[in-house]
This record gives sequence, C-alpha cells and structure tokens, in this order.
Amino acid sequence: MKVRSISILGSTGSIGDSTLDLIRRNRSEWRVVALTAQNRVVELARLAREFAAEVAVIGDESLLSQLREELRGTNIAATAGQQALIEAAAYSADITVAAIVGCAGLAPTMAAIERGGTVALANKEALVSAGEVMTAAVLRHGATLLPVDSEHNAIFQCMAGSDPTDIRWITLTASGGPFRDWSAERIVRATPTEAVKHPNWAMGAKISVDSATMFNKGLELIEAHHLFPVGLQKLRIIVHPQSVVHSMVEYRDGSTLAQLGPSDMRVPIASALAWPARMDTPCEPLDLAAIGELTFRAPDEVRFPATRICREAALLGGGIPAVLNAANEVAVAAFLAGQIGFTRIAAHVENVLSAYAPPPPASLDDVLAIDREARLRAMSLMELA
Ligand code: NDP
Ligand code: MG
Repeated sequence: MKVRSISILGSTGSIGDSTLDLIRRNRSEWRVVALTAQNRVVELARLAREFAAEVAVIGDESLLSQLREELRGTNIAATAGQQALIEAAAYSADITVAAIVGCAGLAPTMAAIERGGTVALANKEALVSAGEVMTAAVLRHGATLLPVDSEHNAIFQCMAGSDPTDIRWITLTASGGPFRDWSAERIVRATPTEAVKHPNWAMGAKISVDSATMFNKGLELIEAHHLFPVGLQKLRIIVHPQSVVHSMVEYRDGSTLAQLGPSDMRVPIASALAWPARMDTPCEPLDLAAIGELTFRAPDEVRFPATRICREAALLGGGIPAVLNAANEVAVAAFLAGQIGFTRIAAHVENVLSAYAPPPPASLDDVLAIDREARLRAMSLMELA
C-alpha cells in the first residue's frame, strides 16, 4: 500500500481528533506533514510527537517559544502566526484537512486550494464567506474539494456518477438540535451549557451553538449551494431527530438516494480520506432494528429563524453571506461568554445584515475585508443594543 501524506489544519479540535483517530488506526499508511492549532500548544506538541509530524504550527505567535520547548529533542519544525498557518496549508500533501473553526480558516484553506491539492473541507464558514471566490479558485487551480460535513458528504456520495441536471431535490437533514422540542418561551432562557449539549453529535462549542440555533443548517444550505450548484430552489431542509439519514438526493425519475450511518464524524471523514476507495472505521455497524424508527418533520422557522435568514442571504449572494457568517460568529462568541441571550443571536445577525450590504467580493482579500468590517459593525451594534 502506498503511503499517503496528510496535513490537518485545526488538528486539536473535534474534527482533528476524529481524523487523527483514523490515522492512528492505520498508522503505517500515512505520513503526517503539518498539524496546526490556535492556542492548545501542549496538545499540539503531543500530537506532533505522536504522529511524527514534519511541522507543528501554533496560530498564537506568543506561544512559539513554548511550542519549541515542548518539541525539544525532536526534529519537528515549529512555526507560529497567521502567515505560518497559510504556509503550512500550502505544503505539499496528498490531502489537507481543513478543520479550523470559523472564517479564521479561510486564508489557510484557500492556500491549500491554490496549491491545486485535495482538500477535505470541514470548515464550512470559509466556503460560506468566500462562496464563488473559493469555488472559482478550485476550478482555476485544479484542486479537488471533498466535503467532510456529514450532510454534504452524504450528498456527494448520493450524487456519484450522476448528471446534476437529473436532480429534482437535494434534502439536507437536521437533527433540530437540543432545543428542537422546547417552547419559544423556554428557548429564550436557554443557557450556553444547555446549547452545547447536542443530543446526537459531540462537536466543538461554536458548531454546537449553531446546531441549537439552526444557523448550522442555514450555513450548510449555503455550503450545499456552492458545492452542488443545482439552484437554491432545489435545496431543502428536513428535521430528522435520529440523525441516521445524513441527507438525500431525489432524481427526476422519482428515485431518492440517501446515505445512512451512525452519528460519528469518522464515517464522513473516512469517506473523504479514502475517496474514491473505502477504508475501515471502528464505528458500530448501523443497527436499524435497534433504532426502530426514523422520523421526519418540517423545520419550524418561527422558533428557529436562522434557516430563513440564511436562505435570504444566499439568494442575495455576493458579499452578504460573509456578513451573515461574521455576525453569527460574533453573536455566538457573545452568547458563549454570557453577554447576550440565546434568541438575540438570530436577531443580532439580522440587525447586522440590514446595516451592512457590501458589494460582491472579487478576491480573497475582498472577502477578508468584508469579514473584518462585518465583525466591527456586529460588535458596535451589540454595544448599542
Ligand atoms: P473545534 O472548536 O473543536 O476545533 C477548532 C480547531 O481550530 C482547533 O484545532 C483550534 O485550535 C483551531 N482554531 C480555532 N480558532 C482558530 C484560529 N483563529 N486560527 C487558527 N486555528 C484556530 O471545532 P470543530 O472541530 O468542531 O469544527 C471545525 C470545523 O469543522 C468548523 O468549521 C465546523 O463547523 C466544522 N464541522 C465540525 C463538525 C463536528 O462534528 N465537530 C461537523 C461538521 C463540520 P485550538 O484547539 O488551539 O483552539
Ligand atoms: Mg453537518
């Protein structure tokens, strides 16, 4: 078996952990090039040692001397800062896993794309913000973008070999998050601890809050719009509390193809790592008899307005989704810090969207400028409120 090389951007996070678990189980098949983190320097050094990485990169420059200290006695190179993250992303590797959270992952992800490599994309905020700028770069540089987000990975698998013009609907499934069955009155009082306690998936804090607000599904709608350009009117969302069906594609002959699996990110990650082949995972086989029932219902956009807000932003397109993403990131951070209530997240995103409508970005720098400006406005609007 040919040894394949891999870099993981955001190696200390939830997706990074699941990816490294798969590598650990097939150690001899992989060579680890670069591993990155933002603050968790001890964990980064531990992983770099365990996987004999060539380079370890810490985003926070003030932690470089500590990283060097932690890696003393090894020949692992240590670098730090935003530019070092971008350089690491551009290193040659058979596959680069883009698993930084938020728009902070955009410039590194673009660097991996501009190298013309294969990018396993978990970092949905990067694609939501950059949209056409990123998809154009994929085409221009001959890169391959493999979706890791479980819904998009499911759709990718269900579309294999098909003519996109034969597609009638793409249906994204949503667990509905921890507040799915809560009354509007109770949702208003939801706490950060309650929001990060997802019923089906173990994930980082930001995406867990996004799941609770349903912004995660809204961002995924925009993500799907760019990955599978069949037209927004053919993309829909259905709530499926068991998270067994990860998404579906309906064709014009009436056939619906779905991908099913356990609620374990190692399944879609393995699908991307091995694509177009398959690899083993330690996940339990799907026991449908034990699960018993799969249920589906329409989303409730009164209690959870996020999917409507995201659809409207996607229809406007251009720079609007970048504003939406930045406003949501600022609002989620404020909610996690106990500064705003749960339902203020969506209200705040709508306020920022009505205050700032930049022209469509033409380049990565344009997207980053919109992101910066949207964050400033989001923060000042929050202070005014
Ligand atoms: P985590 O918060 O668990 O991990 C984020 C990773 O990014 C960590 O390695 C973190 O480093 C690093 N990071 C954080 N901020 C920065 C920054 N400013 N610059 C550079 N690196 C940074 O997130 P998840 O793993 O849950 O999610 C990662 C991405 O994957 C997100 O975009 C999410 O939406 C997407 N995704 C996640 C799923 C999941 O199940 N977790 C499912 C589908 C998609 P440090 O540890 O040092 O802070
Ligand atoms: Mg998802």
